[in-house]
Amino acid sequence: MATNIAFIGLGHMGGYMAANLVKAGHNVLGFDLSEPAIAAAKNAGVPIAESGAQAAANAEVVITMLPAGRHVIGALEGPDGLLAAAPKGTLFLECSTIAVDDARTVHQLLGEAGHRGVDAPVSGGTTGAENGTLTFMVGGSDEDFAAAEVIFQDMGKRIVHCGGPGAGQAAKVCNNMILGVSMIAVSEAFVLGESLGLSNEALFDVASAATGQCWALTTNCPVPGPVPTSPANRDFQPGFAGALMAKDLGLAAEAVNSSGVKAQLGLVAEKIYRDFAAGSGAGKDFSGIIEEIRAASSGA
Ligand code: NAD
Repeated sequence: MATNIAFIGLGHMGGYMAANLVKAGHNVLGFDLSEPAIAAAKNAGVPIAESGAQAAANAEVVITMLPAGRHVIGALEGPDGLLAAAPKGTLFLECSTIAVDDARTVHQLLGEAGHRGVDAPVSGGTTGAENGTLTFMVGGSDEDFAAAEVIFQDMGKRIVHCGGPGAGQAAKVCNNMILGVSMIAVSEAFVLGESLGLSNEALFDVASAATGQCWALTTNCPVPGPVPTSPANRDFQPGFAGALMAKDLGLAAEAVNSSGVKAQLGLVAEKIYRDFAAGSGAGKDFSGIIEEIRAASSGA
């Protein structure tokens, strides 16, 4: 069924997602603050509004795909904001990756303004956005999830209802904390193996079929050779950029600190990736962390 959708944030992810909604037959009106983002989305067939408020004025669904929590809350609030512009009862799908606390604030703002919505961060990167194969991790009521799911199906392949408000963002930060920690662990093991005279191929053959097995090893392997499609084979072109891993681990660290959980490895991983992104790693795949570990290891 065609739905009137306002799509706010037509960047690397949102541009493709909005284009897929147009292809699926929805009445999409997009908006972004950046001229290049608008031009690319227009080229991909997305009709563009003059402002976020204009895009939302006749919307049944408003999707936000913005850089961080402050952009989302900023776009929602105020006399020209999306909350005031959208008809009462509009379904908001907040797909950006933001802090769990910010996601809960968004749910509260929606309720106070007479709207409803879900937090629904994604994984799958720009390739998943382009191909319509994203995974959506969704937080919200059963009823709002059911209404959102049919829209997500036009942009994604796997849609998981993780629980109530904020649960989608919680799932995203927990998953990416596992990923950041495990990539560092796999990279340290390869560098240690090298210094012990073990070939990368031999360590891969053992660990990939033993208890060290994980995605960071078997899909995104940080050394060239064992997994020909991993970014290590193309000079660490992303993939999943170090800057994005640093951002997501920052959100995980925020949640760790505000909840008082003793997640020591998560906090160390956050510092390691923050330094990586501040140095040469921002635009490299996050598996490039192995180069830092090798460079900092004496005698390796
Ligand atoms: P991006 O920076 O390319 O796009 C964000 C867009 O939002 C920009 O074009 C910016 O101009 C626009 N914007 C900012 N404030 C606005 C406002 N008030 N109104 C309208 N437009 C506004 O970012 P992206 O890579 O598309 O990522 C979007 C979100 O998805 C982020 O939260 C990111 O962490 C998350 N994410 C990204 C990836 C990825 O691989 N790029 C993967 C998973 C999740």
